[in-house]
Amino acid sequence: MLNSQNDDSRVDLAQPTKRAPVLWLAVIAIFFVCVSIVTFNVWQLEHAKEHELHQAEISTSNLSKSLAQQAEDTFDEADVILVDLVERIQHDGRGPAQVDRLESLLAQHVLETHQLQGVFFYDRTGSWIVSSFGIKPPNANNADREYFQYHEQNVNLGPHIGKAVRSRTTNAWIIPISRRVNDAQGNFDGVVLATVSMTYFDQFFDSFNMDDKGAIFLAMTDGTVLARRPFTDDVIGKSLVKGAVFTEYLPKAMSGTAMVTSIIDHVSRLYGYRQLAKYPLVVAAAISEESLLQEWRANSFKSIIILVSAVIANILFGILLIQQIRFGLKAEARMRVAQSSLEKLALQDSMTGLSNRRHFERVLNIEFRRSGRNKTPLSLIMLDIDFFKSFNDAYGHFAGDQCIVAVADALRACLNRAGDLAVRYGGEEMAIFLPDNDDEGAFALAEKIRLSIVARQIPHADNPLGVVTVSLGCYTCVPGEQNTIETLIQCADAALYSAKKAGRNMSVTYK
Ligand code: GH3
Ligand code: MG
Ligand code: MG
Repeated sequence: MLNSQNDDSRVDLAQPTKRAPVLWLAVIAIFFVCVSIVTFNVWQLEHAKEHELHQAEISTSNLSKSLAQQAEDTFDEADVILVDLVERIQHDGRGPAQVDRLESLLAQHVLETHQLQGVFFYDRTGSWIVSSFGIKPPNANNADREYFQYHEQNVNLGPHIGKAVRSRTTNAWIIPISRRVNDAQGNFDGVVLATVSMTYFDQFFDSFNMDDKGAIFLAMTDGTVLARRPFTDDVIGKSLVKGAVFTEYLPKAMSGTAMVTSIIDHVSRLYGYRQLAKYPLVVAAAISEESLLQEWRANSFKSIIILVSAVIANILFGILLIQQIRFGLKAEARMRVAQSSLEKLALQDSMTGLSNRRHFERVLNIEFRRSGRNKTPLSLIMLDIDFFKSFNDAYGHFAGDQCIVAVADALRACLNRAGDLAVRYGGEEMAIFLPDNDDEGAFALAEKIRLSIVARQIPHADNPLGVVTVSLGCYTCVPGEQNTIETLIQCADAALYSAKKAGRNMSVTYK
């Protein structure tokens, strides 16, 4: 579309707003890179932690399995001896000869069975009848022991494991496993007892390679501790029944793993626990949370330092990038303004500010084609200052320039349609191109221009009127085969020539 001279400068001002999202895109991209780095690292750390926990779960679970097996084997071996002892007492009797034979046999068993501390038989009153130690302390009576009372009151002939106690013969910690002995009528006739040395369990527990805060325990299903690593006297016999393993996990499953805070020493540990199928016993092996996450924490610390560095580097890079983009956008805007000014200058006559011939020819080409397609008329007015040579001669070249500028100003002031184009055609000759304008309109405008120049009253002694005047030639046509750009210019020129010839200071339309 055709623009007047004043419209040219408007073109570029809208451009920078179109590019503004680049800044936001950069900010969003940097934000997403930061978020991605952080998310990826957090995910990796979580994954590594899960892996460590999973490995620890496998280890503690396996450990608890082997502990359960060891406990079962230990009590099985002791129980086999008790079964044999019961059978012998019931069938061979308890005469002095049988007791002597049994004592040497049991002494042999204790010698050969590493975990056994002693094997005993107490009659229905709790008195010592047989002891693998061969000695019977005077007035020794075990009727007060928990296992004795248990068998006295329960007809059950199966094995019974009791709370850990200190041995009356050696004062060492022992775990009793016992069976009821019946007489021929099925009445209570005494108790056989095997005592398992707690040291045996302690040594076995100590044989595992665990962290300083790790723990292993063997307890009864009622929570009573039978053996524990780390061992302390006061722990034995203590109840774990309020601990989470007994309250929360064992009721749900006979075996499993759980992160639990110990009620004994308040250390958080991953427990692998297992209840024995054959005996009312529970074993557990635990790795302290501190130790199992130690390596993970050290690695996490390093990762976080790298992560923070990466985020800071990214932000710094982002700031730099944003600054560069802002700088680039500003430079681009300045360049656009400069380019727009240059383009404007390239199409403008520097002295008058009117369009130059290059611009005129470009517009003429476009408008000529458009009018040709639409079959609309267009007009051209050629203007020439009268007696200008003598103006220059009389007032000098500089005054001549000022006169040309004044005529251009007057001309411009007469145009009020956006499409009209005023051109400095050459020297003191100007042209006014009027698209979509008929011959009447063109002539009226020519007259308006001529009169407005006269009205300026620019003194010109050699002009018969005493002031500067102009002559104007108008031509209107609908572009077609006969009406080319050349004919348009030639005809307007011819009209101007006619105006000059007819006396100047007038407008003439080419007919
Ligand atoms: P006419 O009435 O027939 O037009 O007579 P004229 O003297 O104006 O003749 P013409 O149009 O041929 O005059 C052109 C003169 O205009 C020649 C030149 O001295 C002067 N002229 C052309 N360009 C400039 C310019 O940029 N500045 C000045 N001061 N004078 C110019
Ligand atoms: Mg002239
Ligand atoms: Mg001239």
